[in-house]
Amino acid sequence: MICISIAHSSKFRGAANTLYGINEYEMSRQASRVCFEILADNGYACTLVDCGNLNDTEYSIYKTKLINSMNPQPDLALEIHLNSSEDKSAHYGEVLYKETTKSYIAKTSADSICQYLKDGFTKSINPLIYTDNGPIADERGLFFLDKIHCPSIIVEGLFISNNEQADWLKNNGAQAYGALIANGILNWLRKVD
Ligand SMILES: [Zn+2]
Repeated sequence: MICISIAHSSKFRGAANTLYGINEYEMSRQASRVCFEILADNGYACTLVDCGNLNDTEYSIYKTKLINSMNPQPDLALEIHLNSSEDKSAHYGEVLYKETTKSYIAKTSADSICQYLKDGFTKSINPLIYTDNGPIADERGLFFLDKIHCPSIIVEGLFISNNEQADWLKNNGAQAYGALIANGILNWLRKVD
């Protein structure tokens, strides 16, 4: 079972781009929903977690308890974010995981998602300036990677603070972002199944 957790909440929307009128929560909600639908349409069991209007401290606790109490435990839990930086030209994409002796699942799924994001962003009709960092071991102890018991990853595929990437999101919709991630997961699932 794949658990897709919508990043942030309607109260704490994460990063935003005011020029394009988009924020992380809304983009993640749309991308996560499409990701869920594509995986479900392909016959894979999925759950979608939405923290609604909880604040950032509340949703960390809520999400951790909810996912850790799922039975069966998800094979993989993921969160779709958008990165943000003071440097408006930052344009790298990465998928974060926690490095442990058991991080094979997280790392291989992250790697497949990175491949699909890279191909999607750079080989489309309007290619983006994009650098693929690949899977990155988290060093900040992010709760979603640290406290969730099943293998978990955080997708940071685009910068909401980069106007070219925000423009891509606005034009293609967050659904296109979610579809690339879903196809990366499908490719990975077909290999491990
Ligand atoms: Zn975020």
